[in-house]
Amino acid sequence: MKIKTFNLSLTSAKIILTCTIFEYETTQAKILQFPFGEESAAQDAAELKKYCDASPWVQAVEMHATIMNMSMMEFCREMSLLREDIQVFGGGAFNPDMDDETAAVFSKGNGFLEHGIVFLLLGGTDFHTYSAFISGWKPLKRKFKVTKADREVLYELDGKPALDVYRRFLNIDRNDKFFSNTLEFPLFLEHDGIDILRCPLAANDDDSLVMSSDMQEGADVRLAYGDPETILASIREDGQKIADFCPEVIQTFSCAARRAFWGDENISDETILFNSVAPTTGFYTHGEFLRINGDMLNFNVTLVIVAMREGDMPQTGQRVNIAKAQIDKDNTEKIPIIRRFVSFIEASTAELEEMNMKLALSSVTDGLTRLYNRAEIERKIRNALDRRKNQESSGNISLIMLDIDNFKKVNDIYGHKEGDHVIQALADVLRNTTTGVHSCSLGRWGGEEFMILLSDSNMDDAAALAEKIRLAFASVSYETAGCQTVSIGVTQAKDENADALYNRVDKALYMAKAAGKNQVVMLV
Ligand code: GH3
Ligand code: MG
Ligand code: MG
Repeated sequence: MKIKTFNLSLTSAKIILTCTIFEYETTQAKILQFPFGEESAAQDAAELKKYCDASPWVQAVEMHATIMNMSMMEFCREMSLLREDIQVFGGGAFNPDMDDETAAVFSKGNGFLEHGIVFLLLGGTDFHTYSAFISGWKPLKRKFKVTKADREVLYELDGKPALDVYRRFLNIDRNDKFFSNTLEFPLFLEHDGIDILRCPLAANDDDSLVMSSDMQEGADVRLAYGDPETILASIREDGQKIADFCPEVIQTFSCAARRAFWGDENISDETILFNSVAPTTGFYTHGEFLRINGDMLNFNVTLVIVAMREGDMPQTGQRVNIAKAQIDKDNTEKIPIIRRFVSFIEASTAELEEMNMKLALSSVTDGLTRLYNRAEIERKIRNALDRRKNQESSGNISLIMLDIDNFKKVNDIYGHKEGDHVIQALADVLRNTTTGVHSCSLGRWGGEEFMILLSDSNMDDAAALAEKIRLAFASVSYETAGCQTVSIGVTQAKDENADALYNRVDKALYMAKAAGKNQVVMLV
């Protein structure tokens, strides 16, 4: 198998003529061409399927289509129904003048179509092909949710106008340079575990973004960054599988956006590596297509690579190590500055996330005891009452309220600091005695008063727990303050609001104090 190109590899030339010669008699090829538009796309895919079903020799389908301004979702869905073992790859035809939307496909005997699709079917017993995709752009960790999108218009990320993300994080605004600026930072869209790039082409007046292909509402996206060294490093890493296949020819479908990214001067840097493996040629495309695990996917800013071979794999000794392949201005030894910045950003983000978590925790916990603070335990009690009222739970709700006896004396005699130790010691007792008690929340109500919420416990069980706590606390002897005691009120919630419940448990506590302290009182 051989490729002849009039311009070796991908170049900035306007016209590239490629001629692929199959040398084995067993290799078969067939061209199908159809008019192509959003209404007919699914039908065209169905026609292709019909042909492939009747032609078991077909192993691969190369496609070229005019897809400008089309949603490809329906088409991709239909193409995914092809026989599972058929590989599909290709791209969207486009005009080298990006502002000109006309494009065309053609094939021998089928004429020339401005809205058309050409399928080149390949196969045969000695024909082998392997396809893969590489982007080289790396995602940053920070995720955004697509909260509003329609076809290729991305309206909102995390409920805010999509342009805000570019404005806020990258200082990129709507202007003449919008496309070339965002090109370095396209969006990664997660699709069934595969990261697909989508490039913002333009920003609308309402701060929505016109993306290079369809966006899915509900999907997670991340900003991605690209720089020449990182991209080349990815190609060296991921390109080895292509080299291991020992292809005789390599075809690439590379996004026009990559051409804009590299510029005329450096355009061949990323494909020239493959020339060390096998003669490489290809097309610049507006949207790249590749079937992965049966699923037809529509990529952007991506390099789809197709390796082809006739006959068996040659001896292992002949495999090229693409990682070691040299290109003229190779300086991949040096870690590019952008990668250092990215690790700085990722590390800062991780620190911030940790800090946010700590802050979130400290906003609900009490500093002295590390139990829930008053606001949080009140919120939990209200939630428990609401859940039962809305019949989301049916368990009994009980409250236990505690107050240390004669605590003023502890402060007066031993000092405030020792008083704090006693408060902390009671918190420890509460934690220890309630370990393993389910649906139990501990809170500091104020000063030396505590509240325990049991959202699936009746009053008797709550009182038994209260007694356990009382005994445990009384048995602790403090270095200076000696033994201390606690009075406890217990009650069970009826159909009532939180205030009525607090009043009753407070009253139970008051009764325990009035009856001589160091005891548990239940009040129905
Ligand atoms: P009773 O048995 O009736 O509860 O008597 P008491 O002395 O404990 O009375 P009360 O509950 O009214 O007193 C609470 C005292 O707790 C008053 C206040 O000085 C002290 N206190 C409140 N918060 C703290 C704190 O964070 N640390 C310390 N050390 N003392 C506190
Ligand atoms: Mg008190
Ligand atoms: Mg007290």
